[in-house]
Formats: sequence, C-alpha cells, structure tokens
Amino acid sequence: MNLETKLETIIRLTPQKKAGLKKLGVETARDLLTYLPARYEEFAGLKKIRDLIIGESASIIGEIENAKAEKTWRKKMLLAEAVIKDETGTMHAVWFGQPYLANMLKPAMRVRLSGKVQYKKGKLFFTNPTWEFLSAELQATNYKLQASTLLPVYSETYGVSSLWLRMQIQRLISQIRDWPEILPEEILKKYHLPDFERSVRAIHFPRTLGETEAAKKRFSFEEVFFIQLDHQLERAEHKKKRANPITPDSTLAKEFISSLPFPLTNAQQKVIWQIFEDIKKPEPMARLLEGDVGSGKTLVAAAIALQAAKSGLQSAIMAPTEILARQHFYEFMKRLEPFRVRIGLLTSSESQKFPSKIGYKKTAEVSKAQLLKFVASGDIQILIGTHALIQDKVKFKKLAFVVIDEQHRFGTEQRARLAKEKEEVAHHDTIRILKPSQIGFAKAIPHLLSMTATPIPRTLALTIFGNLDLSVLDEMPPGRKKIITKVVPAAKRSDAYEFIRREIHAGRQAFVICPRIEKPDGKQYKSVRAMQMFSEMKAVKQEYEKLSKEIFPEFKIAMLHGKLAAKEKEKIMKQFKGGETHILVSTSVVEVGVDIPNATIMMIEGGERFGLAQLHQFRGRVGRGEHQSYCFVFTDSKTAKTRERLKALETAKNGFELAEYDLQFRGAGELSGARQWGMSDAGMEALKNIKMVEAAREEAAMIVNEDPNLKKYPLLKERLERISQKIHFE
Ligand code: ADP
Ligand code: MG
Repeated sequence: MNLETKLETIIRLTPQKKAGLKKLGVETARDLLTYLPARYEEFAGLKKIRDLIIGESASIIGEIENAKAEKTWRKKMLLAEAVIKDETGTMHAVWFGQPYLANMLKPAMRVRLSGKVQYKKGKLFFTNPTWEFLSAELQATNYKLQASTLLPVYSETYGVSSLWLRMQIQRLISQIRDWPEILPEEILKKYHLPDFERSVRAIHFPRTLGETEAAKKRFSFEEVFFIQLDHQLERAEHKKKRANPITPDSTLAKEFISSLPFPLTNAQQKVIWQIFEDIKKPEPMARLLEGDVGSGKTLVAAAIALQAAKSGLQSAIMAPTEILARQHFYEFMKRLEPFRVRIGLLTSSESQKFPSKIGYKKTAEVSKAQLLKFVASGDIQILIGTHALIQDKVKFKKLAFVVIDEQHRFGTEQRARLAKEKEEVAHHDTIRILKPSQIGFAKAIPHLLSMTATPIPRTLALTIFGNLDLSVLDEMPPGRKKIITKVVPAAKRSDAYEFIRREIHAGRQAFVICPRIEKPDGKQYKSVRAMQMFSEMKAVKQEYEKLSKEIFPEFKIAMLHGKLAAKEKEKIMKQFKGGETHILVSTSVVEVGVDIPNATIMMIEGGERFGLAQLHQFRGRVGRGEHQSYCFVFTDSKTAKTRERLKALETAKNGFELAEYDLQFRGAGELSGARQWGMSDAGMEALKNIKMVEAAREEAAMIVNEDPNLKKYPLLKERLERISQKIHFE
C-alpha cells in the first residue's frame, strides 16, 4: 500500500460510504489523510453518569429514553429536552432554539453528549451539549474512558460521519510505513513548514491547537503551491507559442476615441495601452481584465478588435448567454460603425451580419451556413456569439484576437454543457479554448483577453488565474449616479413596497431576488437542521405569488429561475426589457450582465444568504440608465454581525473591496469561484494570507524558470500530473 492506493482496496466500503467519500473528494489514502477537520471539539473526559461532578465539563455515552419539544414559559422560546440513561443513572439535556432535535433524537438511540454538568430541581442537566450519534459498530471500539482531548470534527456527508473518519484515519496512519515528502525541502525550511507525516498526525490527532495551526499552514501552502506550479508551467508553455502580432495604429486609436460620445476613463486608456503592448508581440497575450459592472470593458475589447480588423485579422468575442452576445453585437455595431467593420453574430438560435447589403446602419439575418462562409473567407472581421463559436464547423481565416466575456460564468454554467458535448475544454483553460484547426493559422494562436466583473480578492485572482496577466478597470465612467443602497429592517418593509409602487407608477421597473426557487417539502434534506435553514429562505415561487396577489395586484409580475428552459428565460427577459412586465422575481440567474436601463430598483430578499460581492453584482443590474436607482436589501437575520456586514454595501467603493470583506469576515467559502475551481477548505484558507499566496507563486515560478521539465523534482511532477488529471476529468 502507498499513498496513492485507492481506499476501496484497503478499507471495506459499503456503496453508501463509497458514494459519500466520493462526494467529499476522497478516493485515495492520501486524500483521506489530507481530508482536514473543519474544526476541533474539546471533548471533555468520558464518564459514567453516576460519576459526573456538578460544574465540571464531561462527556457521557448513553441511550435516549425520550425527547420532546417545548416552549419556555416566560420567553416562549422553543427548546428540545431529552432524557438520557446509561447503566449507572439518568440525566437530562436541553437545547434552546433547536426544537427540531426532539424529532431527531429517537428513543433507544445511542449518543455521545459533551457539556458542562448542571444541577436544577433535583436533576442533572447538560445545557446545549454537543452531541453525536453512535452507531452500534463504532461505539464499542472507539471510546474509552479518558482524559479530555481535542477531537477533530470533519465536514460529513450522508453515510460518512466524523467518528468513522477518525477511526479510518487512525488505522491508516498506523499502517503507513513510507511517508514521501513532495514539497522540496528548501521550501519547508524557508517557510518553517512541518513535513508531511508530522502534519498529518498533528492535524488529525493534535495534542494542542497550536500544532494544528502549523499543519494547516503546510497543507494550505501545498495546495496553493501546486495550483501555482500548474499555472506557471502552462504559462511558460504558452509563451513559447507563436501569435500573430497586431501592430496598433495610434492614429486609428485616436480616431476611435474621438468618435465616441464620451471620453475614455483613465483606467480604460491605461488598459488599452497595456494590451497594445502585448498584442504587438509575436507571443500570445493571455490577460484577464477585471472591472466592475459598467466599468466599460466592452469598449476596451472593441478598441482592440478594431485594430485587429484594420490589420487584416479577425476577432472572436464570446459571451456566456445569448442575451449578452446580442448586447455586445449591438454595442460593437454602434461603436465601430464609423470604421466600416464587418461584424457577425452567432448563437445557437440566430445568425446575423452587419452591415446588411441594403443599408449601412442595418443588420441582416443570414443563414448560419452563409455566416460561417463569411467567417471562413475573412469577410466577417469580428464574430460575436455564445459558446456556439467553439464548434468545429466555425472556422476563421485569420483569427488573431479572442475575447471571453464573463469567463467566470463559463466556469459554472457552461462547464457541464461543454463536458457533455465532449469539447476538450478544461473549465479554467480558456487559453486553449479554440482548436488550431479553427483558427486559420498554421502555427499561430490568438491573443486572449478574458473579461470578468466577478469581484474577487487579489489572492484568489493570483491563484486561480495565475496563468494570466492581470489588468483592472478600477474606475467608473463619470456621471454615473450612485445607486442608493439601504439595508431595510423588517419594520420598514411596507414602506419599501410603497416606494417601489411609486417608482413603477412613474414608469420604472424592479428586480426582486430570492435565494432559492421553492420551499422544500422536507424530503430532500438530510437533517432537520438543513431543512429549517432552507425553509426560512424566501422562495421565488412563493414570493411571486405573494407579490402578484397581495402586494402589487395592479402590476405585471414575472418569474425567472434556473429551472426554466433557455427559450423561456429569453422570452421573460425580453418582455421585461421591453417594459411588458414591471417586476421580475428571480433567483440569482439574473446575475449575468443583462442591461435593462429602465430598471431602477433591485430588491434582495434573504440578503444574509449571499456574499457581499454577489450582492454587489445584483446591484449592478440597476443604475444603467438615466434615472436614480435603488438597492434594498432585506434580511431575516437578527444578528448585529450580519447587519453590520450588509452595511458594508452602503459604504464600500467597489466590488473588489467587498470581495475582500467577504474573504476576511465570512471566510473563503463565500467566494464565488474558489470552490468551482476545485479548491479545498485548506486552500481557501490560504487566500486570507497574501504573503503565503505570493510566496507560493514565487517559489513555483522559480522552479519552472530553472527547471521547466521538473527533472530535478520527480515527486512534484508526479503529484502535479495526478492533480491535473483529477481536475480535468472530474
Ligand atoms: P461592463 O464593464 O459591465 O461590460 P460595459 O462595457 O457594458 O460595462 O459598459 C457599460 C456602459 O457604459 C455602456 O453603455 C458603455 O457604452 C458605457 N461606457 C463605456 N465606457 C464609457 C466611458 N468612458 N464614459 C461613459 N460611458 C461609457
Ligand atoms: Mg460586460
């Protein structure tokens, strides 16, 4: 057996356990050993009920005699109370605010309870003890009467409990003879990181919490380091390729700028020039452009595509949805019309060309086949579309510049579809998104500009986009009215509705965002707790009913969510855009950049369920027209901390600032992106530490620079290959 051995060959696994482990991403011995605890529980010494001492912390193992839900008579607070016995006596346990526990704790169930022993009205009590179920097979073996210890608690899944994980990890550690260290020794020394074996032991069976911190640091570093290594290698590989230089014509650039009805922002100007420097080289650009919604990314892309077109080269602009693709098509037409550039639009439902033969300012519907011919002949200079662009049959004559808009979105939504269509496109691998046969040059590959409005912290950008250079549009075009943002207390809800009513009567429109589609029937949730949590969330369907029947019966209201067919979604958006509906109740699908200048209200239910950066993106859906816009955030949460956090929306300068807040105050789990890119909790913890991320990046770059084939680092190489296999084929 070694670390890469599949678990199923070492441990007997029921199908349920196998499925559970897979869900946790645990397949090999190494995976299990590096499956890190979510937290530690101080597990007070195990005692018999007879031996409990009042006022001391202790644990017992016993059997539930009965459990019931009750109300405290004074504050009317709901609680669960249970009676537990062992062979020496009985005691009570109460949990405040968790009445549903009464249903989960069934008579005769064996449990472990830990807490402080109290004595009230002649009875022994635990108040809000921590607890876990003990299955018959486990309880006998694992617990011995013992002094207090730190017990690791893991994220569990159906069939895989912390207790079971602890047992298996313990067994595994005792069986492993060989602990190869994959991180270079110099790196361990330089950053004072414990070696692999020590880290594994410390993280699962710590004597002190301090010991776990050092181990955690090691695993975090390791994860980020491998991501960086992968990206640095890819980058080095990429830079070796040839691209067609696009020589920027500064006269043309000036003409373009003066043809605009507004001046460029300084940030736009800076970024355009940054890109000019890149594209004139014979090595392919690979750049990420980050900028808040409305910061004018499209215009940057248009400025570059114009230069390509005038150098006799083609550009492709890819958007994640048909709505966005069409929006880009019109924006490009408007901005490039004075320069007589020929533009095409290709999505799975339409194909258009600009200009048409009849009038210079018109577009023409053409057949898909015809459009593809124009693209292949080079007649269409800029092709805009959805993922329809990356089909084999789309062939360019001389494609030299590729823009991927909202590339983040491609990750989440298009990924599944791409995989299904057997496109050989790794989700984070935008660099190789087009196949050489499609590009039209024998050896050259296009310059790539990836654009995103998803505000992510710098550490995350440096990590998941480590293969790209970074540009930021950190300035909004002037004259934008600030969106007035309010976190609305429950008491002011009806005032907010009245405000919305007045706005709509004045001709405006409103979005209402809810955290989920419909209220659960309870079946799909593993625990009563999960169900409780979700049932409190505002559901789109219920909210739609309520708003259309009770609150705003005089308005037309539509509903949008991810379970609708694409055609249906398009239709609903079109009607909203056309002003046929007044209010759009939606899940977060509306997040993708649709432009509805007449919408001035963004109302968000269950605000505490979203990260600040995501809320910021919702907010970006309004304030796109001439009217003053508003964002109202409602929350069911009564805690001061949550309200405080949401208040940051009222003050923060931009989305990137909010993303940093999310990272610091809610943890990396909150970040859109990290999880989708296959980062673990440990890796995400590292994102809080810019020094660690930079160190990992530097070390990786240094190794790639001096030894691009990793000849001196066979273990690194092997591990890297395993990781990228896992990422690319999962
Ligand atoms: P995003 O970065 O969200 O993609 P867009 O490119 O869609 O933003 O730009 C939003 C709007 O702002 C568009 O209508 C665009 O024409 C306009 N715009 C872009 N740059 C400027 C500028 N420098 N001054 C004023 N308006 C601008
Ligand atoms: Mg955009």
